[in-house]
Amino acid sequence: MVKSGRWILALDVGGTNMSGALFPDSGGDPVALSTRKTPGSEGPAGVVEAGAELLDEVRRQGAEKGVDVKRIVGVGIGVPGTVEPGRGIVSLAPNLGWKGVPIRDLFQDRVGLPVVVDNDANCAALGEWWVGAGRGSRLMIAATLGTGIGGGIVKEGRVVRGVAGAAGEIGHMTIEMDGHPCQCGNHGCLEAYASGTGIARRAREALRGGAESTMTGMVETEEEITAAVVTRAAQEGDPVGLRILQETARYLGAGLAGLVNALNPDRIVLAGGVVKAGSLLLDPVREEVRRRAFPASAEACVIAAARDPELAGVRGAALTFRREVLEGRR
Ligand SMILES: [Zn+2]
Repeated sequence: MVKSGRWILALDVGGTNMSGALFPDSGGDPVALSTRKTPGSEGPAGVVEAGAELLDEVRRQGAEKGVDVKRIVGVGIGVPGTVEPGRGIVSLAPNLGWKGVPIRDLFQDRVGLPVVVDNDANCAALGEWWVGAGRGSRLMIAATLGTGIGGGIVKEGRVVRGVAGAAGEIGHMTIEMDGHPCQCGNHGCLEAYASGTGIARRAREALRGGAESTMTGMVETEEEITAAVVTRAAQEGDPVGLRILQETARYLGAGLAGLVNALNPDRIVLAGGVVKAGSLLLDPVREEVRRRAFPASAEACVIAAARDPELAGVRGAALTFRREVLEGRR
């Protein structure tokens, strides 16, 4: 492993967990990696403190492995919200309840290094484009299915940001006209149905409606029903788990088919905890897209699981820092 050269810290703040990592500025695999819970209820100050502690830990791990920590040049951070380009202000992060938070400056003050902030799903998309399932793609869409649904669009290796930096929010496409309320304030968003949170909610509703399922034996309280429980039940052949995943695939497929028609991408990469369901989810998603999208566009688009779902976010955050600070471009 090359231990000279420069190093970049990366932090991926999710709605539930956060990951920190230390990367060589040339890319490649992290020399240190750690995760912890996101203390979302403690507000921006609590999240900044927890994130900075995680970065300290990653820096210590790096030092133990022979990295010269004086050669760490800065931090790339992904956050689950829309970020004003170039200013590092989170304009809206529904799952953290943040509005207008100057997260770049808060981190910079605490960490004492230059910081670049972008949307977490943009980072994950860029990470998968760089060395993952999006490699070589000319126009890719990445969707991260976790607590919420993040999205990123990468065209010829650049993130498509839109004029306010808010492009790629594919989790907030309306797929049910008068559907369930979404964290963003709208109703019937894709996120309200196909995110981990949406899957868990639909499973609880099914069980409350009296559906018989092995899930009831897998947990003690209703709150313990998560997308992971639904997936495990489905993998064991439970009909309710299977039906919930099938419906999830339909919602996702309908949303993605719209994007396939609108953008004609060559790649859709799916990441996040929900994708651990594997072919139980991916196969019906592919089918639904084929059923709904224009044949030529559906034909041209490969739908794949992320190669490195755990690393894509931090890797993309590191690349974002490299581009913006070390190379002076976005
Ligand atoms: Zn929404």
